Amino acid sequence: MKVTLLGTGSPVPLPDRAGTSILVSIGDERLLFDCGPGTVTRLLENGINPGSIDRLFFTHHHIDHNAEFFNFAITNWARGNGSETLRIHGPNPWTDTLLESLYDIYEEDIEYREEVGYPSNGIWDVETDPVDDGSVIETSRWRVEAREVDHSIEAYAYRITDTQTGREVVLSGDTSMCDEIVEIADGADLLVQDCCIAPVADDPPTDEDTDAYVWDEYTSELPDEKRAGLHETHCDPSEAGEIASNAAVDTVVLTHLLPYRDREAIRSGVAAQFDGDIIVAEDGLEVGVDPIDATTNR
Ligand SMILES: [Zn+2]
Ligand SMILES: [Zn+2]
Repeated sequence: MKVTLLGTGSPVPLPDRAGTSILVSIGDERLLFDCGPGTVTRLLENGINPGSIDRLFFTHHHIDHNAEFFNFAITNWARGNGSETLRIHGPNPWTDTLLESLYDIYEEDIEYREEVGYPSNGIWDVETDPVDDGSVIETSRWRVEAREVDHSIEAYAYRITDTQTGREVVLSGDTSMCDEIVEIADGADLLVQDCCIAPVADDPPTDEDTDAYVWDEYTSELPDEKRAGLHETHCDPSEAGEIASNAAVDTVVLTHLLPYRDREAIRSGVAAQFDGDIIVAEDGLEVGVDPIDATTNR
């Protein structure tokens, strides 16, 4: 089993951190979790054919987790072999609404593509399955269990089991510190954990020293009120470490990072609570789980 952190950012768009999207590869199968802005580009950068994915899971329907859905669905179809229909799992009614919107908005576009030779299968037969607390989706090779966590809207963490090797990965999705994420992560080999609330790096970019776009609001610490609001729905490094420690996972990967964060402060904040392995995510990070082995393609 291998986990590829395609997008490790937040709703704040930045070139080096795309919106959330995580690929889990088990044997020949590829499961995509969330489809934030930049997903298709990041798949291509990692050498993954978007058409090779036949399962998409949504943790929740915030824009940084679903905004690339239309592009992904069309690309998945256009690059697919037509033999596997995309199946989408996520909270409803939003997952159904997203798929219906695809058909509403792009009906003529899809028909035009069929006329010019794209496959006749793989787009009109996309299926959705609603996810609830405790939902289990499984095949002969893997099992995915959903657990509702604490966020500003209905949101799920997923525990993914490679039933051939017994290895287990948990993706927290967006969550505040809560019992449910500790319970679903219990004893996992790898936990990919929301760590949105983290201190700013010592040397954030400024408009003066770079030609690149700078989102000024995030080059200094957030105002207390805004930070407190975010903290009600996301974790800080100490909480991420506490979750990893209480769940007794082997390795934790910290993700969903705001711009210009201090990676060492994230690592040390987690390490104060957790004595397992700690990885601060970057886009393109690949983590093998048989055993844990991290590399990056970017
Ligand atoms: Zn969210
Ligand atoms: Zn998010």
